[in-house]
Amino acid sequence: DSTVDELSNFTNSGVHRLDKSLNTIFVDPVRLLDRSYARFKLSPSMYYTRFFAEARVCSNPRKRKRKRKLHCLNEREQSADRRHQGVRDLLLRAHEGLLCDEDLLSGLRGLNKIGSCLMERKIEYDADIAVQDFVELGRVWQAPLYEIALRCSRVSKDRSEEDTGSASMRYDEQEKVEKVVPLFNNLVVNDTSIDVEAEFLNTLYVMPRNSCFYMSDLEQIHNLVPAEKEHGYNLIVIDPPWENGSARQKSAYPTLPNRYLLSIPIKQLTHTEGALVALWVTNREKLRVFVEKELFPSWGVDFATLLYWLKVKPDGSLVSELDLFHHRPYECLILGYCHGEAERFFIPKPLEENQVVVSIPGDYSRKPPIGKLLLEYAPGPKPACCLELFARELMAGWTSWGNEPLHFQDSSYFVSK
Ligand code: SAH
Repeated sequence: DSTVDELSNFTNSGVHRLDKSLNTIFVDPVRLLDRSYARFKLSPSMYYTRFFAEARVCSNPRKRKRKRKLHCLNEREQSADRRHQGVRDLLLRAHEGLLCDEDLLSGLRGLNKIGSCLMERKIEYDADIAVQDFVELGRVWQAPLYEIALRCSRVSKDRSEEDTGSASMRYDEQEKVEKVVPLFNNLVVNDTSIDVEAEFLNTLYVMPRNSCFYMSDLEQIHNLVPAEKEHGYNLIVIDPPWENGSARQKSAYPTLPNRYLLSIPIKQLTHTEGALVALWVTNREKLRVFVEKELFPSWGVDFATLLYWLKVKPDGSLVSELDLFHHRPYECLILGYCHGEAERFFIPKPLEENQVVVSIPGDYSRKPPIGKLLLEYAPGPKPACCLELFARELMAGWTSWGNEPLHFQDSSYFVSK
């Protein structure tokens, strides 16, 4: 039976197409990210902690009533509301698609159980997570002196295999090679085909196979520009620290005024045969206008389409009311293409319009690993070279840049397989 197949597929891939007629997919970020690792798994309870912790806070009935009446909207808000009305039906249909998918929903109930356990143990969890503040650390005068030690397992080929020319390899756990390199303003690379542990200030971090990161401030981003154009990127995912009034955001990470983003050298980072650029934006109208009128034009990116991320709870309900003006249960990803210098610009698969990705959100501001779903649309040679800007995690085959790309790589977010 095909639905059973689909669901067992979902268990492995973390991706489930809700209904062929709808452009809606449900993703489990934990399973999607797990594909980057051989020796580790993401801990689902750590990924979804914030959500369950918040579920308690939001049950305050007084807080729910903050709904603006339509007649109070100023011009900009009206324009935002028009955008919202334009996608409302699409999102409602996507959500109905999820609610009709009984098999998927019953699968998610398992998560609910984790949720209730977590709520009971919430205090304990909060005390447990004390991750390194890389943003602060990168600012101190000692920053250039900090080093990280990568514990790679030496890949040793069996003699017999070498003779027969077989490519299979053996990872010898005993034979660890330690590579000590600067942590900041340096491209730290795991070029092996297995995940490695890295140690920094007595804490272990997990680096997926074939991943690398460059931890720096925006001022150093030009160091990512490849010396040769054919080493540029075919897929660039960007989640900028947009300014907004949220106090929670202020304590989570520093933000950047829009004008600083104009200086990101997207064109120079783009591969000669072009790149697909995916930019996360909030629902603020001012921001959307800035991206359309200033940011994309100055980057040399041509708008292609929009993709929506609809956020649900483990019981399938939306995280907030769809029409709540200042707290929409969805975010938007703006997609566009940047042409490289070569004549050749070939898109292997046209982007679908009106795609909706549904998932249960993780930590504050953490996005589902959408890059994996966009790979097949990226122009240029395969495998595509992928870059995430303002990243807080690593993925196999990707370069992650930001001032804290190791944030979610702390080994406390993982369990051994
Ligand atoms: N996409 C990420 C969230 C990114 S939040 C996720 O899914 O988890 C934005 C990130 O930009 C934060 O990590 C923040 O610390 C970082 N950032 C803020 N100012 C920066 C700067 N000047 N240079 C580099 N990174 C910066």
